[in-house]
Amino acid sequence: MVKQNSLSKSALFLLRGHTPWLWLNPNLGRGNGSSQLDVALVARAGGKLDWFAPLLAQLFPELQSSGGIIESPLLSAANLQRQLLGNLPAQGRLLLKADHSLPVAGSVKARGGIYEVLVIAEKLAREAGLLADGDNARVLNSAPVRELFAGYTVAVGSTGNLGLSIGVMAAALGFKSVVHMSAEAKQWKKERLRKRGVTVVEHSGDYASAVAAGREQAAADPRMHFVDDENSLDLFLGYSVAALRLKAQLTAAGIAVDRENPLFVYIPCGVGGAPGGITFGLKYLFGDAVHCFFAEPVDSPCMLVQLASGKTSVSIYEIGLGNNTEADGLAVPAASLLVAGLMRPLVAGVFTVADRDLFRWLYQLQKSENLKVEPSATAALAGPRFLLDSDAGEEYRKRQRLDNAAMANATHILWTTGGAFVPEEEYQAFFNKGKELSNN
Ligand SMILES: *Cc1c(COP(=O)(O)O)cnc(C)c1O
Repeated sequence: MVKQNSLSKSALFLLRGHTPWLWLNPNLGRGNGSSQLDVALVARAGGKLDWFAPLLAQLFPELQSSGGIIESPLLSAANLQRQLLGNLPAQGRLLLKADHSLPVAGSVKARGGIYEVLVIAEKLAREAGLLADGDNARVLNSAPVRELFAGYTVAVGSTGNLGLSIGVMAAALGFKSVVHMSAEAKQWKKERLRKRGVTVVEHSGDYASAVAAGREQAAADPRMHFVDDENSLDLFLGYSVAALRLKAQLTAAGIAVDRENPLFVYIPCGVGGAPGGITFGLKYLFGDAVHCFFAEPVDSPCMLVQLASGKTSVSIYEIGLGNNTEADGLAVPAASLLVAGLMRPLVAGVFTVADRDLFRWLYQLQKSENLKVEPSATAALAGPRFLLDSDAGEEYRKRQRLDNAAMANATHILWTTGGAFVPEEEYQAFFNKGKELSNN
């Protein structure tokens, strides 16, 4: 029953005990992850999103000021840093990559999901002879092209946010759209989609089964494209563009990234596409100077379990965990094997977080920085303390030869991945829960 593979006894003990901990990736730097996938594809995806920008500006009024570029700010967070790290020595500077405020989709899913729908749209229009080289992307919003798209369906399986991103984009281009939602999906996310004419199919099972159902339905229909969160390269590449944008923001802020000025990035992880794509892009741009860590709920640590186990697919159920978490964006029982394979030599480690901490940090982010995020988006906040103030963190710094001088120059980026569209009532309930937990 239990496929232990190479999961150590102590790892199983921590996982089954729901103890928050930091797992260090023994395969970091071994072999070259980028050799498995051409890194030039990241720059190409960035260029493509630039080309699509005028179309997006036309479809979404909220993107007019950015000329159709969907991007979030890089924020300083001095109050939060004080709260999280106190007087720890050599703590460097803490920043937030505020994807919770990404327009159109309200989460990190904006880049990947919207990119994949645009790529499908471009391909269909080209094949129909309605788009030629040199055309402006706004052609994709012309009457004959919209008529073409109306005959096609874009489908996806989701715990919520990917569905929001795909559904909104597909509907805006005139596609029919079907979103298969897993049991965790919040009611408001379903309603938001239905209001835009998206068909929402509710599944009583988990994320993996919602994806499987969607994949099966699409396989039987040649006019249905399924956005496969577990296997899609386009989705992954769309996410990776965040790295190009972050690099430009760091440069604009005068922040150097090299061996003497290391960059630590902490990103919440579900199936792996979003954090994996970002990591792939960042390792391509910064190499050994960037250290990427993923954050997962203690009851859904699918990427940790997959990377620590070895080759074949392992789900968290196999080690006795239940996938129960309020972090709906991270409630995934098995990691994407595509992403796990690409991350094996690239990701520095994975840490786990308890739900009660997610709520405490949600409250903290509001109090310290006046930011409104959803529970999934706070998972990264555990990262810097693990790095600076745990045995595993010390081990990592030693292995990487990161002395106090380098750490004092370090930049730590917490990726806040979602939350802009959480309804006020829902948010208040999260906030109150976090407040109560913080005061006890
Ligand atoms: C989906 C999601 C993630 C993780 O992305 P994956 O591609 O599933 O790993 C993190 N945070 C939020 C808010 C999300 O919706």
